[in-house]
Amino acid sequence: MTKKLEEVPIGAQTIERFLPLVGEERMARGREIAQRASKTLEGRVVWNVNSTARGGGVAEMLRAILPYARGGGVDARWLVIGGTPEFFHITKRLHHALHGSQGDGSELGERQRELYERVSQENAEELLGLVNARDIVLLHDPQTAGLAPHLAHSGATVIWRCHVGGDQPDAEVSRGWDFLEPYLKQMQVTIFSRRQYVPHCCNHNKSIIIPPSIDAFSPKNQELDEATTRAILVHTGLVEGPPGDGAPVFRREDGSPARVDRRSDVIRMGRAPAWDAPLVVQVSRWDGLKDPVGVMRGFSALIDGEAPRGAELVLAGPNVRAIQDDPEEVSTFERVETAWRKLPHSHRNRVHLACLPMGDVEENAAIVNALQRHAAVVVQKSLHEGFGLTVTEAMWKRRPVVASAVGGIQDQIEDGVSGLLLEDPTDVESFSAALRTVLEDEALAQRLGENAQERVRAHYLGMRHLVQYAELIEKLG
Ligand code: UDP
Repeated sequence: MTKKLEEVPIGAQTIERFLPLVGEERMARGREIAQRASKTLEGRVVWNVNSTARGGGVAEMLRAILPYARGGGVDARWLVIGGTPEFFHITKRLHHALHGSQGDGSELGERQRELYERVSQENAEELLGLVNARDIVLLHDPQTAGLAPHLAHSGATVIWRCHVGGDQPDAEVSRGWDFLEPYLKQMQVTIFSRRQYVPHCCNHNKSIIIPPSIDAFSPKNQELDEATTRAILVHTGLVEGPPGDGAPVFRREDGSPARVDRRSDVIRMGRAPAWDAPLVVQVSRWDGLKDPVGVMRGFSALIDGEAPRGAELVLAGPNVRAIQDDPEEVSTFERVETAWRKLPHSHRNRVHLACLPMGDVEENAAIVNALQRHAAVVVQKSLHEGFGLTVTEAMWKRRPVVASAVGGIQDQIEDGVSGLLLEDPTDVESFSAALRTVLEDEALAQRLGENAQERVRAHYLGMRHLVQYAELIEKLG
């Protein structure tokens, strides 16, 4: 085993912060149910176990939600499992399968099961030293499902939360579920982001639906004024200077002041985009399912001739060397770079490949925040998507979003009202046409952005999420 179970420190935050965002009526209901849940959980720990502390939607969600539980008097903790590269190769393959994709086509057979179980057992041995009877253990995603059999006799309630899912169950999806089924049988409750994702083996009254949410106050989503946004983007090298009058600052999760110090590692030709160049932006892990090469092709088609309003494209993701649980990131990034090098010269100098620094996740989040806020259009051209947090993040920032009609994105965006959906995510032409529409029709872009923020306020803020968790705790007793 390469590393041990690791605890991620989490601060505490009060849910009272939500008052100006959700109003008194929703707040009163939130307070009441949160109080009851913290009473039920007195002396008990709610363990959250996943496979990475940084990068990707699950880490993002845990970071967003757990401080509010702690602030409400619940001893919520976050543990990250360790594993070997082979283990993470298998879990990545599983992740692809659950999305209905073959990934690298490698096997999910007995040898892989043996290896998966061995690493699960090693992690479980440590976990069992921490977990008490009556604790709640929330295992996140396929990487941690194998811990369940080991926890069966601990007296703890074991819940599995699945953040992925495929729109069309097919042979590949079944292969993924077949692999996981023996572990899922051991869960007292399973949680999915959409009803459509509940697999056959979990199709019983122990499965519930809780869509993800974002934290409006985190460095990723907190308000940044234009001067600060500009200062952050100039400092980190994503737009051309001068930085203007602002400083590249943000507030950390715990409210303390912070500054963006690190620079982004950007592959580009020549200069960064000027501050007033409209940016088309996709922020994602370097994962083929996010179709970064497709985004580049669509953008290239858009600017063939003349780029509307001189638009430029920024494809941004984490620095590829920093993500431990995803062995494919490096090769995907290399594929994107190769495709970029093949673009015609006049297109290449409008496309920027940005690896954002990951040394400090909150600093990384502030850079993403500034980039999303500054975007003229945020795109998420995923081929498959569990939920699509980047879409929620951009919608909260009142950005017009052009995104594939896949997975949870279909729940978030009402096509033509709070964003534009792409019926066929592989259709480069309609992608580039949608980009042109939003870039050329500024009134439409503004309307889409405003509706988008209201949609997030109603459905995808942490308050709704916390209430659903509290209701579950109440039900479990
Ligand atoms: N993200 C980030 N820094 C990056 C790239 C991505 O913080 O450099 C975040 C992004 O803002 C979002 C999450 O990673 O919060 C990705 O979640 P999403 O649901 O979009 O996709 P997933 O990674 O779970 O497939």
